[in-house]
Order: sequence, then C-alpha cells, then structure tokens
Amino acid sequence: MGSFYEQIEAYASFDFAGFLGRVTPRQVDLVLKKDFLSPLDFLTLLSPAALERLEAMAQKAHRLTRQHFGRVIQLYTPIYLANYCVNHCLYCNFNHRSDINRRQLTEAEIEREAEAIAATGLRQILLLTGEKPGKDALDYLIRSVEIVRKHFTAIGIEVNPMDVDEYRRLAAAGVDSLTIYQEVYDRSVYDRLHPAGPKKDYRWRLDAPERGCQAGFRAVNIGALLGLNHWPSEAFFTGLHASYLQNKYLGTEIGIAVPRIKAGPGNYQPEAPVTDRDLVQILLAFRLFMPRAGITLSTREPAELRNHLLPLGITRMSAGSNTAVGGHIDDEADEGQFHVSDERSVDEVRQMLIAKGYQPVHQDWHSLA
Ligand code: SF4
Repeated sequence: MGSFYEQIEAYASFDFAGFLGRVTPRQVDLVLKKDFLSPLDFLTLLSPAALERLEAMAQKAHRLTRQHFGRVIQLYTPIYLANYCVNHCLYCNFNHRSDINRRQLTEAEIEREAEAIAATGLRQILLLTGEKPGKDALDYLIRSVEIVRKHFTAIGIEVNPMDVDEYRRLAAAGVDSLTIYQEVYDRSVYDRLHPAGPKKDYRWRLDAPERGCQAGFRAVNIGALLGLNHWPSEAFFTGLHASYLQNKYLGTEIGIAVPRIKAGPGNYQPEAPVTDRDLVQILLAFRLFMPRAGITLSTREPAELRNHLLPLGITRMSAGSNTAVGGHIDDEADEGQFHVSDERSVDEVRQMLIAKGYQPVHQDWHSLA
C-alpha cells in the first residue's frame, strides 16, 4: 500500500456530480443493508437521493455508535499558544497578512492557562499554534507540552505538519494525539486558498497524518474544513483518508472531525456553505462508513445544534473553548482564530450530557510511562 496521495490521484478524473446525480433512493436502501461499505457505497450516502433516507441512516448510525462507543463523550478544550503565522490561508484570521496583535504565551502564562482549564475538571487538552519555521518553534512546543502535562492526562497538538522525527520528539515529550486537517482535498481549490507560505505544499500536508501514525501517536484526527469547497467530494476524501489510515495503522486510533467554517473574523465568506442538514448527512455517512472512528464536534457549532447532533455519531466534543491566545486567563484577549458559537461552560456541557443520558469523560486513559 503506497501513500494516500496515490488513492486520491485515482479519482482525479472521477465525475462526482454525475455519480451523485444518478444515485436513487433504492440504491441508498441497498447500501443501508450492508455491514461493510465500499468507497462508492459511502459516496452513495453523500448523494441528494440519500436525503430521503436520513431517518433510516440516523437510526443505523445511532445503533453503531452505541455498539462501538456506548454512551460516552470525551471532553477537551484547546489552548491557543501563539498566533504568529507565516502562512496566507485566505480563510483564517491568523494569516500572515492579518492586521492583528501577534503574541506567544510565556511559560508562566501557559502554566496559568493550564491551571485555569484543569480547574474545570478537564484532563484532555489540545495545543494550537500558527506556523513559525525553525527549531525554536519546535522547542517552544515541546516546552509547552512539558508544562501542561502536569495538569492533563491526554495532550493533543494541532500545529503545522512536521517530519516523523519531529513528531517522535513531541510524542516522547508527552503528546498522545495529532490533529491535522487537510482543510480542502481538491488540489486546485487548495492552491488558490493557500497562495503563499509553507502550507502551499499540498502533498506535505496530505501525508502528515500518516507520518503521525508512523511516529507512534496514540490517536490521529483528520478532517476537511467544510465550506471551502463543494462538500460531498470533500467529505468523501476525508472518509477515504481516514479509512486508508485505519486499515494501514491498526494500532492508531483514527478520528474524524467536521469543522464547518462560517463568516467570521477576517470577513472570509465560505465559498461553498454547508447547511445544518448537509452537516447531519455528512455525520451519518461517516458513521456508517467507519463505525469504529471517533467523530469530533467542536464549539464552532451552536449549543442547540450540538445537542441535536449528539446521538448521530459524535464521540468527542470541545467545551469551554476560547480561540484567542491567552483567552482562558485574560477576558480582554484579542480576537480569536474564529468565533466560538457554543459558549457554554465546561460544567454546562457536562450537565447537558448527563441530562441526555451520556457519560462525559474527562480522562480516557493515562500513560504508565
Ligand atoms: S489556518 Fe493555520 S496555517 Fe493557516 S493562517 Fe491560520 S494559523 Fe496559519
């Protein structure tokens, strides 16, 4: 098995619109009877015809989620360590050309952020930065991990793509999971939205989740930023990518996220908006295609929608999020990377989960090392 790049290349001339337009509700019914779905079965569930079978998809997704995950939801929150960035992603408020205050948390500030978050009961954390080339940036990240690991049992990173050795250094420091979104799988849209900076390198980013698996992270989470491109093909490639990783790296827990971009700081307007109904269909199709994959839903989505999406396959949620650097300890912190829609506290999310019969999990595991 080669790289996922070869798999995505195999679809270079595939007629997505034609395939999706030809699917009938009867074909969706046949897919729903199967225990194992092929990639084209998965694509069938992303078709307009599948909208007529959303209820049946929801029932099966709910059953599979209960079977593989019980009624358990992992809770985590992000810490934005720094908003310096050399990249020019047109949809991001932290991009190099944005006129925002740039800062990087000091060690003392990281400690205080970690203490503030740990006081909410959370034990799973996600560290984020923009991209800053050079050895100092990696050393800073490693030092940050060393500081927060006193407070958290699971530490994830969502940073620029790295090589296997760099990922291994981070794993040795205490990082157990890698989150990296391709943002957009369509090559031409990717090139247009990333006009400058190291992120222009599509292939380097595409292969980063695989390098994370090779480096030995316990979990690797991937996704497309929904809204940047026509969603059925983006959801399809996300699922295909996750399936590729899950089949090849049996010891790594592969997860999918469904971040949906909305108009926000920086005034980026999504070019291919994804409706709530679209999001439901995407979630259900993911769950039916990959019954064992964790699915993350972030606070980008509003509280009421998150409550409703919960039974459809979600296994992991952020809570108490703040996307500004220093946002957990400084009420006056600058604008964040994007607007948080679900502004409930960790405790409010926890109470909602309990009221709906779910078990909120703060600590899923801890290292014996
Ligand atoms: S999405 Fe990430 S890499 Fe792109 S500008 Fe924003 S912080 Fe930088």
